[in-house]
Amino acid sequence: MQIKKSVDLSRLTTFGIGGNSEYFTKIESKKNLVNAMEFAEANNLEYYILAGGSNILFSDDGFKGIIIHMAINCINVCKENIVIGSGAKLSDLVLVAKNNSLTGVEKFVGIPGTVGGAVRGNAGAFGLEIADVLESVTVYDKFDNKTKFLDVSSCEYDYRTSLFKKNKNYIILEASFSLQKGNENEIKKQMYDLLEQRTKKQLQDIKSAGSFFVNPIVSEEIQDLFYKDSGIKSKNGRVPAGWLLDSAGLNRKRIGDAQAGYTHANYFLNLGKATASEIIQLASFAKTRVRDEFGVQLKEEVELVGF
Ligand SMILES: Cc1cc2nc3c(=O)[nH]c(=O)nc-3n(C[C@H](O)[C@H](O)[C@H](O)COP(=O)(O)OP(=O)(O)OC[C@H]3O[C@@H](n4cnc5c(N)ncnc54)[C@H](O)[C@@H]3O)c2cc1C
Repeated sequence: MQIKKSVDLSRLTTFGIGGNSEYFTKIESKKNLVNAMEFAEANNLEYYILAGGSNILFSDDGFKGIIIHMAINCINVCKENIVIGSGAKLSDLVLVAKNNSLTGVEKFVGIPGTVGGAVRGNAGAFGLEIADVLESVTVYDKFDNKTKFLDVSSCEYDYRTSLFKKNKNYIILEASFSLQKGNENEIKKQMYDLLEQRTKKQLQDIKSAGSFFVNPIVSEEIQDLFYKDSGIKSKNGRVPAGWLLDSAGLNRKRIGDAQAGYTHANYFLNLGKATASEIIQLASFAKTRVRDEFGVQLKEEVELVGF
């Protein structure tokens, strides 16, 4: 395990924003992870788990402590199951499934980041969430220094949340997905169509961290407004944060080089040289506007680190 000093975090996130980390290590095995934790403890350092960096905003001051960069990348296919390391890209899961004519995860095509990040945040797209196809998760529990095997039913999954968000001692090592036999060409076609839809909505190849706010639970009155405006029924009392932001006139709102997206106001963009401080100012402006207009308090989906 190699420990580096002063690593530029902006290069490790899709936002392309952030200062340096005091210490940094890349871990490729559970042993590396345990060693990194011991290093943090021995030196009285905070640690932070970084994976694909596609749902994180690091502060301009960086991170005081050690960044543990997850790179456990193993992949094993056994009949209709795929067991995959948490540091593997989610796109690798999608690709390996397709190459083995296994269907079930193609809707995740185009979601950046790793399997670990997706399992923690219950990532989803086009109506499919990680919890729908996950079978089990292996974690390292820092609290009692043990490896634990968790069935999906004990992972407390809900919209964009899980047990792993609540219990920060759990570091995801690998995940097992249960898929079905399918037809490789059909899977390929669906992946292609979905990617095209994402590209049309300009959700690809941008400097962003995906949806900045989670879709909030709102009053029936606001759910009705959403239905009248979009023709879409709200799900579990939630409306898209992007719709609230659009309706409050926030799309294209720009502060410095930070801008709320034009096709999707809930995607905040770094137009080039945005700072974390500009993104925070934009978020705070957007939250005030939505609160004034609708009485709804937006909450960040993106993790704010080092503030
Ligand atoms: C252009 C774009 C499009 C996106 N589209 C979607 C979408 O359609 N649907 C969607 O759900 N999301 C989307 N996202 C958001 C993001 O890609 C997902 O949230 C992704 O799952 C985050 O994974 P990551 O590896 O990048 O995690 P990171 O951003 O590195 O980390 C996110 C959080 O997970 C924790 N974490 C990461 N790995 C582990 C681990 N092994 N054990 C414990 N904790 C861990 C980190 O500490 C952090 O708190 C999009 C993002 C972008 C930039």
